[in-house]
Amino acid sequence: MLTRMSSLFLRTLRDDPADAELPSHRLLVRAGYVRRVAPGIYSWLPLGLRVLRNIERVVREEMDAIGGQEIHLPALLPKEPYETTNRWTEYGPNIFRLKDRKGGDYLLGPTHEEIFALTVKGELSSYRDYPVILYQVQTKYRDEERPRAGILRGREFIMKDSYSFDLSDEGLSASYERHRAAYITLFDRLGLKYVIVSAMSGAMGGSASEEFLAEAEQGEDTYVRSTGSDYAANVEAVVTPAPPAIEIEGQAPAAVHHTPDTPTIESLVDFLNAADLGRTVTAADTLKNVLVKTRAPGATEWRLLGVGLPGDREVDMKRLEAAVHPDEVALLDDADFAANTFLTKGYIGPGALAANDVRYLVDPRVVSGSAWVTGADKHDHHVIDLVCGRDFTPDGTIEAAEVRPGDPAPDGSGPLVAARGIEIGHIFQLGRKFADAFGLDALGQDGKPIRITMGSYGVGVSRLVAVVAEQSHDEHGLIWPREVAPADVHVVIAGKSEEIRAGGEKLAADLDAAGLTVLLDDRTASPGVKFADAELIGVPTIVVVGRGLANGVVEVKDRRSGERTEVPVDGAVAHLTELVRS
Ligand code: ATP
Ligand code: MG
Repeated sequence: MLTRMSSLFLRTLRDDPADAELPSHRLLVRAGYVRRVAPGIYSWLPLGLRVLRNIERVVREEMDAIGGQEIHLPALLPKEPYETTNRWTEYGPNIFRLKDRKGGDYLLGPTHEEIFALTVKGELSSYRDYPVILYQVQTKYRDEERPRAGILRGREFIMKDSYSFDLSDEGLSASYERHRAAYITLFDRLGLKYVIVSAMSGAMGGSASEEFLAEAEQGEDTYVRSTGSDYAANVEAVVTPAPPAIEIEGQAPAAVHHTPDTPTIESLVDFLNAADLGRTVTAADTLKNVLVKTRAPGATEWRLLGVGLPGDREVDMKRLEAAVHPDEVALLDDADFAANTFLTKGYIGPGALAANDVRYLVDPRVVSGSAWVTGADKHDHHVIDLVCGRDFTPDGTIEAAEVRPGDPAPDGSGPLVAARGIEIGHIFQLGRKFADAFGLDALGQDGKPIRITMGSYGVGVSRLVAVVAEQSHDEHGLIWPREVAPADVHVVIAGKSEEIRAGGEKLAADLDAAGLTVLLDDRTASPGVKFADAELIGVPTIVVVGRGLANGVVEVKDRRSGERTEVPVDGAVAHLTELVRS
């Protein structure tokens, strides 16, 4: 295929778009790949659409290779199936809802577990029909709170979602492993640097779950990995190793102290160390009680929740959100404190929480027998040597404290280090939750029904365009890996003479005839403008047909390395074909 830039629907921009923070966003807009229509809603222009289609092709090839069958479901969906699973409510403000002319409720699908389960229920009935893997490459809609970086986090975006249906847990594990292997091949083909981390299954509810995170300094996901093993996990999924319980017998009794002007952990620690308790107190010896409120999906009432954690750690809101999911969570405001006068701001202790039936969950480090300095529920007062299991009994533990580099890995292999990434894929074993909701069974060999177990697997197809760009660019522009580049070769006609123009046209036509996709810069613009655009657009091989033609050569430039080679024009087609195919 030969595409002429003189007629291509493309306008490159010299300046960065004002709203773009990430290089991928800046470059995709400047190079004319995408255009913004509304926040998180983008149009694909010709070059962008080609890259998107190439990524879709790679995704389809790998899904087909594991026996996935492509189908296509509607994006406009009735409410009822999502009510059956309670996700109509659980999704809260994150889904686009609409009404038809008769007043019926609809949504734009954010993901399709419900409809896939119903589709399979409608078609399959015997154990012989299983296992099955179905997938689609489809537009999804989510009213994201913070759309970001152009197509990276859109409100309309393209996802490959697949679903496995198995008769047994072993079958589900096998389907999961096949997806895992397919994703590895797929992301390797796209030339991405990524890690596979264990993950919470979020809104889905389920057991085994892993995320594929593309390495990116400015990614939104923080993950940690162990320096001593291959343990890696999304921060939300990190399980805090609990220290062993401590003998309660013989510990000093709890004592309330007057600690004037100590509403912060820091002021408290300074005060106690100045008071000479016969030992040094650190922030980690204090028990900080953070009060939040949670609300169940669909409920109007908020419920108070006390979160107790060592005073040297902050609450990580993302971990807290994941821990209380599907409930939502918010910090208390002044009105909440005013309504609950037993909460003495800055001096909250487990005592007042228990006395007022407030749920109290503690960090796993707060083990039985551990002694703490904490609030005495009285202004300017703290209690010392308050022992867990003797003086207070939490209602359970919660993973809400920040995870810090240097913390021990849950597998005991060594300290954790932190890094950031962008989620590109997610695989998880849903189990029977959706099959239970819809009564999805197969008739077994013995005539008895077998409840189907499901897996669900997503790839952010449109997001991948941005992720590849994020990992592969330089200050001049995009640098596409061959597999997804909008063309194989970018031929630049650099000169006004008839010979040069004719030479460029002929080379482009010959390359096209040889089966390569060619972008031909046949515009009247100056060579400087054309070179800059070629760098910006990022086709991996740039061929300059210019003055050298008089000596029978063209210049072949590798966009990634910047390396230039002169190639005889007669052998150029063979040379470039070889380069592209290798
Ligand atoms: P994130 O944590 O980034 O919001 P998610 O957990 O909501 O992702 P899934 O529901 O598992 O994502 O969706 C599968 C894949 O779809 C993700 O791995 C991601 O690559 C992609 N994806 C999710 N939300 C968006 C979005 N708003 N825009 C573009 N791609 C998205
Ligand atoms: Mg999301």
